[in-house]
Amino acid sequence: MRKIIYPGTFDPIHKGHLDIAVRASKLFDTLVFAVADNSSKNPLFTVDERVELILASTSDLHNVSAISTQQLIAETAREENACALIRGLRHVSDFEFEFQMAMMNYHLNPEITTIFMMPDEKYIHLNSSVIKEVTKLGGDLRDYVTKDVFDALKIKFNI
Ligand code: ADP
Repeated sequence: MRKIIYPGTFDPIHKGHLDIAVRASKLFDTLVFAVADNSSKNPLFTVDERVELILASTSDLHNVSAISTQQLIAETAREENACALIRGLRHVSDFEFEFQMAMMNYHLNPEITTIFMMPDEKYIHLNSSVIKEVTKLGGDLRDYVTKDVFDALKIKFNI
């Protein structure tokens, strides 16, 4: 069984993340979202809510699951018996940070290969911060998030 881990904050998951997950899940037997339980980023959603929103948003993908993690992603990958990590690349500006992370993860766990993918161009400008800001101000971003995420954002922002 070839398993790939998709690590990130996912606060909340949007269609750019989903685009990558769908593509990667076709190349591997299973894909596991590993949601970072990292309060220093001050997330809007709790880690359990972020996992729930991923599960709801991927319910039609039969080989996709989600867990939360508080430890190094190289360690999570080892525990999960995964052989790869998937990360999305949007712009050249993502590259430097992602390159550093990939090199560090090779150092921590040489068995794990990091794979990068670009999303469909209609999602290239998306990030979770923009989704939150625009929704909070009343913008309708239903094209960019699933209904579950859209409803959860409305509840969080009381709109
Ligand atoms: P981070 O892990 O940097 O806290 P995210 O949870 O938002 O941030 O991102 C998780 C992964 O998804 C990262 O590899 C990121 O590059 C990727 N990603 C984020 N937004 C998009 C997008 N619009 N298209 C493709 N990949 C994306």
